[in-house]
Amino acid sequence: MTVTNASIPTVPLLIDGQWLESASTVWRDVLNPATQEVLARVPFATAQEVAQAVAAAQGAFASWRKTPIGARARIFLRLQQLIRDNMAELAATLTAEQGKTLLDAEGDIFRGLEVVEHAATIGTLQMGEFAQNVAGGVDTYSVLQPLGVCAGITPFNFPAMIPLWMFPMAIACGNTFVLKPSEQNPLVTVKLVRLALEAGIPAGVLNMVHGGEEVVNALCDHPHIKAISFVGSTRVGTHVYQRATLAGKRAQCMMGAKNHAVVLPDANKEQTLNQLLGAAFGAAGQRCMAASVVVLVGEAQAWLAELAHKACAMSVGAGKDNPDLGPLVSCAAKERVLSMIARGVEQGATLALDGRAIRVDGYPNGNFVGPTILSDVTPGMRVYDEEIFGPVMIVVAAATLDEAIALVNANPNGNGTALFTQSGAAARRFQEDIDVGQVGINVPIPVPVPLFSFTGSRGSKLGDLGPFGKQVVLFYTQTQTITQRWFADAASVGQVNTTISLS
Ligand code: NAD
Repeated sequence: MTVTNASIPTVPLLIDGQWLESASTVWRDVLNPATQEVLARVPFATAQEVAQAVAAAQGAFASWRKTPIGARARIFLRLQQLIRDNMAELAATLTAEQGKTLLDAEGDIFRGLEVVEHAATIGTLQMGEFAQNVAGGVDTYSVLQPLGVCAGITPFNFPAMIPLWMFPMAIACGNTFVLKPSEQNPLVTVKLVRLALEAGIPAGVLNMVHGGEEVVNALCDHPHIKAISFVGSTRVGTHVYQRATLAGKRAQCMMGAKNHAVVLPDANKEQTLNQLLGAAFGAAGQRCMAASVVVLVGEAQAWLAELAHKACAMSVGAGKDNPDLGPLVSCAAKERVLSMIARGVEQGATLALDGRAIRVDGYPNGNFVGPTILSDVTPGMRVYDEEIFGPVMIVVAAATLDEAIALVNANPNGNGTALFTQSGAAARRFQEDIDVGQVGINVPIPVPVPLFSFTGSRGSKLGDLGPFGKQVVLFYTQTQTITQRWFADAASVGQVNTTISLS
């Protein structure tokens, strides 16, 4: 954390509809990962500012919860159009602060935009249930009521998509929201929140604070916050889940991954190799759904040389030039990835492709690491056991599909997986026996569209309900049941009944 030149723009807080300069004395630079240019300074909000943001959300809840469904939905209809109209500028900001290519930045925004579109259909998603004559003349119906103030804590790797997983659905359900984006790249998130206000979200309904551990802990502890949505690493997500649930809140934490792509020898070779490379090295491997482990089954093990040959041809550069992969998000991330590769080699892995020495013309200071492939890897090596979150493909051998399934199920993470095959029977068995949230069959990054919900198994998720789709409507609401009887005349009063029966 550094304090920089005062001429550099500062990132504002949003409290009760006002964009404010933080009074914090602790600030951090937002850097362009391709150049190290300082783009802005982001504050670590004070405890008082966090409390003000929550108080604003609490105050706005009283009227927002009673705002008609149609009025809420129309805000998201407007927001989706505003996001489309501003796509190029949003993508340029995202690329500048995060590093991913412009095309991939548009993909990041588009996958969030799909959730905004879904929020615009909140009417049918929020319908309750009704049953007539559950007892003589008695009817019961249920409604989904908003919870109150909800908070969202997001990671650096999808600074558009993941905030859009959270606040649109929470607000469409009638809640108010406090968003805390990643302190590494908050600029595109700020632009999206500005568009949300322009679309008509009233003052106090959406608030934004910045910071790290202290701000997150304050949100977990605050008595007026009813639910926390978190996406990020397993270490922090586990902490957030424990702290928030101990304070009586609902929590959903989507966390780290080690996604295995299993390749059977009957797969379409050319198509499969291309898909593996895109899924392992796209966004410089900084996707929670990256295919970071490739399991070559039986004769498919002979494909390694071709995989390395194709990976070697992938271009690396600044995201704005649309290469195949851009830089890692920070110098620290690059150092960590380099040390993981070195540790892999020390522990006996073979460097089938070494991208460590990459140089990018015109960008001497970028956090670049070229596509790297480590083969002969086995469980127990650090590169297998830990999430690397960089452009490093781990290649593991398995003799049979059964052996591959056992390997995937023995890994502590269960975020995503994919099988490449032309056999329907093999795909059917894989899907049924694999204990992973997102399963792709000849689809390398099987992130569902918002008609479904994102999920996760074992160490990749804490909490029962996932982001977006129908599950998040249940997460952001509580069910109320109303059981009612209307007497037609005063004569049908009946007698005192001390049983629990409704009749
Ligand atoms: P991170 O856990 O470091 O940070 C996530 C958020 O937590 C940030 O807002 C950060 O400010 C905050 N934070 C950081 N340290 C904290 C602490 N000690 N106490 C409280 N809060 C803290 O994650 P990241 O590096 O930004 O993102 C990468 C990770 O996110 C990877 O592990 C990736 O797999 C995971 N991820 C998971 C999914 C998913 O859906 N499962 C999606 C995207 C990213």
